[in-house]
Amino acid sequence: MDTIQQLDREYIASTYGRFPVTLVSGKGSLAKDEQGKRYIDFGAGIAVNTFGYCDTVWQEAVKSQLDALQHTSNLYYTAPCSALAAELCRRTGMKKVFFSNSGAEANECAIKAARKYGAEHHGRDAYWIITLKNSFHGRTLTTLAATGQDHFHELFQPLTPGFLYAEPEDLEGLTELTASHKVCGILIECIQGEGGVNALSRDFVQGIAKLCREKDILLLCDEVQAGNGRSGQLYSYMNDDVTPDVATTAKGLGGGLPIGVTMLGEKVQDIFHPGDNGSTFGGNPVVCAGALSVLKRLDDDFLAEVRAKSDYLFRAFSKAPGVKQVTGMGLMIGVEPEKGSAAELAGRCLERGLLVLTAGQNRLRLLPALNIPDSLLQEGTEILKEVLAD
Ligand SMILES: *Cc1c(COP(=O)(O)O)cnc(C)c1O
Repeated sequence: MDTIQQLDREYIASTYGRFPVTLVSGKGSLAKDEQGKRYIDFGAGIAVNTFGYCDTVWQEAVKSQLDALQHTSNLYYTAPCSALAAELCRRTGMKKVFFSNSGAEANECAIKAARKYGAEHHGRDAYWIITLKNSFHGRTLTTLAATGQDHFHELFQPLTPGFLYAEPEDLEGLTELTASHKVCGILIECIQGEGGVNALSRDFVQGIAKLCREKDILLLCDEVQAGNGRSGQLYSYMNDDVTPDVATTAKGLGGGLPIGVTMLGEKVQDIFHPGDNGSTFGGNPVVCAGALSVLKRLDDDFLAEVRAKSDYLFRAFSKAPGVKQVTGMGLMIGVEPEKGSAAELAGRCLERGLLVLTAGQNRLRLLPALNIPDSLLQEGTEILKEVLAD
């Protein structure tokens, strides 16, 4: 084992199961390790590097802001922060934005918005939030409580109370929960990521949206992973033609720097007052300058290319030997192997120079950069097909 990995094992808390590789540089969808070995990247830093490593347009936006001003705190106005908020609202129809630094924080803010809306409109006991089984919403104690997977909860009790869990696709069961509890919000990932790369059906998502409208419950869409073009639309709820009251995002928007966003729709645009929420780094000008450059490039033509790359991957894996099923949408794809563990297969891909991720339910998870060149997409696909068939 090399020195970097030794140091890491000695001094970094053991919260991650790392692959045995130290990456030192990257360009686009290619990464290099210490020995100079080349890897095709089908993970994009978990859906973060939207335009791959060291993309020059994003770098330029970040570097020029870095030369002007790196941070001011939220006591002052800065241009990139307000410009990004305006562009997000223009592209989504949402009304206001709260900036933080991560997906978990973005969801915390969405949960606060729903709780406050419930308290003001339906009484202090209208605090329940429904989420789905197999969901993933973050690692803080509240977003962990929101995450509908028991194994994450076990040793961290007591978690924040007030969450209920419904089965995906069971609209009846979910509706019953809204009858037995005073619910202020329903939080969903239209494409569940970490839990297994499962797209919710359009009928189910539309059914939830209708239920929310009828009962004045807020529809909260967690777009942390599926957002920012990854699903083939700018935000994944757009595939289902619904309008959330609150949408959160993070990962891919920053293009590689930490950002969290909570977008507030009409019903909750004025829910927060000074002191209700805050974040020291939220809206940081360098991060926002990079994010704005990412968002501006996610136009209709670009999204059509994302969908074409997605079609290619679905076609390539759907009938491939060793594949049980292909799930997901856009460039957020789950491949369930017929035999063997996804983790072990990911290890074999690594040896052969391909970075892939895993997700729940024994899935390989493919999240390439949205601009991955077709040649690398094909080369990576061939490697993965061989590993799966083996
Ligand atoms: C990654 C993820 C989160 C948590 O984001 P962090 O930035 O790690 O806090 C929340 N929701 C979804 C859907 C995610 O994929």
